[in-house]
Amino acid sequence: MFAAMPAPVNDPNHGFCRDCLTQQRDLAKRCIQCGSPRLARHPELYRLHLAHIDCDAFYAAVEKRDNPELKDKPLIIGGGKRGVVSTACYIARINGVRSAMPMFKALEACPDAVVISPNMEKYVKVGREVRAMMQALTPLVEPLSIDEAFLDLSGTERLHGLPPALVLARFALAVEKEIGITVSAGLSYCKFLAKVASDFRKPRGFSVIGEAEAVGFLAEQPVTLIWGVGKAFAAVLERDGIRMIGQLQTLERNELMRRYGTMGDRLFHLSRGMDQRVVLPDQDAKSVSAETTFDTDLASAADLVPILRALSEKVSARLKKAGIAGRTVVLKLKTQDFKIRTRNRQLGDPTRLADRIFQTGLQLLSKETDGTKFRLLGIGVSDLSDDARADPPDLVDVQARKRAMAEGAIDTLRDKFGRHAVETGYTFGKGRSVHPPEPLDD
Ligand SMILES: [Mg+2]
Repeated sequence: MFAAMPAPVNDPNHGFCRDCLTQQRDLAKRCIQCGSPRLARHPELYRLHLAHIDCDAFYAAVEKRDNPELKDKPLIIGGGKRGVVSTACYIARINGVRSAMPMFKALEACPDAVVISPNMEKYVKVGREVRAMMQALTPLVEPLSIDEAFLDLSGTERLHGLPPALVLARFALAVEKEIGITVSAGLSYCKFLAKVASDFRKPRGFSVIGEAEAVGFLAEQPVTLIWGVGKAFAAVLERDGIRMIGQLQTLERNELMRRYGTMGDRLFHLSRGMDQRVVLPDQDAKSVSAETTFDTDLASAADLVPILRALSEKVSARLKKAGIAGRTVVLKLKTQDFKIRTRNRQLGDPTRLADRIFQTGLQLLSKETDGTKFRLLGIGVSDLSDDARADPPDLVDVQARKRAMAEGAIDTLRDKFGRHAVETGYTFGKGRSVHPPEPLDD
């Protein structure tokens, strides 16, 4: 569906539609395929890999999802002990309501607002669901809060069959469809500007800041855009007559450090769009998984097993790339009526092998294929560690050892010739035609 069109790096017209994901050149105002005006277009679109994703008015969006009567009403999540606004929906924001505003002021500005006290348990649960979907894109997910995270998508193009920009757009659509809330995404070459970008066109935003434009773009922005420049420090800069980032760009590093100490070093680098910080995945609550929603509900093992195999290979490829392994294999199924079943099994030692993940998933799946129709299948591993202790040679199970060696050989070939160079018997077995992995991340 998404032809892997080689993208010329400096073609400013190259882009895609954020609603149907059709890639197209010569973009008019609307998508040539579906007519949507939501087009992504940028000369560096297919070169950038660092993303920041932020849910739009998160708490309010979850409450609106769960009570459609609130959809067109101004909604404030807040009250509680501190008596301030936690989140205001966009309708309330139009009326002047802001986060952290005292409730009485918010209600002065927007007397018609519906006020709901926060249900953190629910938001944490939804936040985890969004996080799990991010982790299906890349193991390099660094959460900043319950509803936002950095993602490093470099090197995932071969896994997804799509460049990061399209993976990101497809993710935003999947969150809307699967979870029922919206996100905004920023795409850039560094953390600083990815976060700036995601904040740019909320809600349902998709903004790109490329390397070529970074310095010029920053020059026009206020200093408060820089990470760590809050009200107090902005006042210090203001006293020195500095209000815009462009002014910082004219000052040398030594001068900035003389004036502002270590903060001067940050001002020097960030004002010029230089940010070397890497994305650090969350070390505790981590899992690596892949899942897919089917076009039509599936019940039989014959249909589900090849998909399980393809997903296991995806998970394994991510683990190998990140140099990590997982000790608990987790199978996830969503039934026709949206009930989620998760089943897990702990292994004797951590694994990163597709075959072990698949075999374990198969045992778990065999107990669930009782005629129930499923709309989603996922497989993953948790209890992550580095892969030093993973998959010790199994002296008892000679077959398993042989399969592990074969998998090592397949990996080598795939590294050399691309991931479709070798297809295993399960993915293309028994004359069934199973799509290659691209559509699986729906
Ligand atoms: Mg947010």
